[in-house]
Amino acid sequence: MAAMDVLHKSVSKSLSAIRVVLVETSHPGNIGSAARAMKTMGLTQLYLVNPRGYPSAEATALASGADDVLSAARVCDSLEDALEDCSVCYGVSARQRRLPLPQLVPRVAAEKMVAESRRGEHVAVIFGPERVGLSNSALDLCHSLVTIPANPDYTSLNLSMAVQIIVYEIYQYQYGKSMSDSTTEGCPTSLATARDMDLFYKHLEEVLVQTDFLDPASPKFLLRRCKRMFNRMRPDQNEMNILRGFLTAIQKTIDIRNHV
Ligand code: SAH
Repeated sequence: MAAMDVLHKSVSKSLSAIRVVLVETSHPGNIGSAARAMKTMGLTQLYLVNPRGYPSAEATALASGADDVLSAARVCDSLEDALEDCSVCYGVSARQRRLPLPQLVPRVAAEKMVAESRRGEHVAVIFGPERVGLSNSALDLCHSLVTIPANPDYTSLNLSMAVQIIVYEIYQYQYGKSMSDSTTEGCPTSLATARDMDLFYKHLEEVLVQTDFLDPASPKFLLRRCKRMFNRMRPDQNEMNILRGFLTAIQKTIDIRNHV
């Protein structure tokens, strides 16, 4: 086998842990073009959250030779489902929001994604709908925001072109590193997944209400701030067990007091 083929095989294997998630895409052609963009850069894991008018002949036509990526795409009912086993989530958006996330340019984000996937983390790169971009609640599930620097008077790229730029950077970083450095960083305990975090947030909300810290009638902003804070921590599985144990201990104390 030629050296480049061997290299490409190892590149594809380690990149398979990076998934592209398209949220509520309205133009099926963009889905096909995104699949094509991914395949050219060695990525195969495509997740579609509530796509409009999909499957569609237009998507298949624009996928061109990447119909294998397209036909293997997983269609999900919610972003939470698409991210369930992911421990690192990047939201790709042209706009910073009211509650800021760490903001990265594609090259820096790609470097982090490749390092994380080499450590065995499942990484998600999430793109928003064409018309409105990613919602605040979608961004609440993300650990970082990736923004493609562009003309400040016109920052909005076509969805599949934004996908192409991000996956290009992932591939270039991985390819360059594969030539010179194939070491993997050790990580003693894997990070909490999006599902772990979701269960933790539900538990946290329950306890905040039980302790009257949170008014269930207007929970929104406090909970969002808490999510941002815990997402910044990047807890691993052991730390997540401690946090859940902490909440359970509070609930036990409340139960005992209520029965005295
Ligand atoms: N009108 C929307 C743009 C949506 S474009 C808005 O203002 O957010 C569709 C998707 O392409 C976006 O959700 C984002 O994921 C990606 N995208 C387009 N331009 C981008 C940019 N300059 N930086 C990062 N992502 C971009």
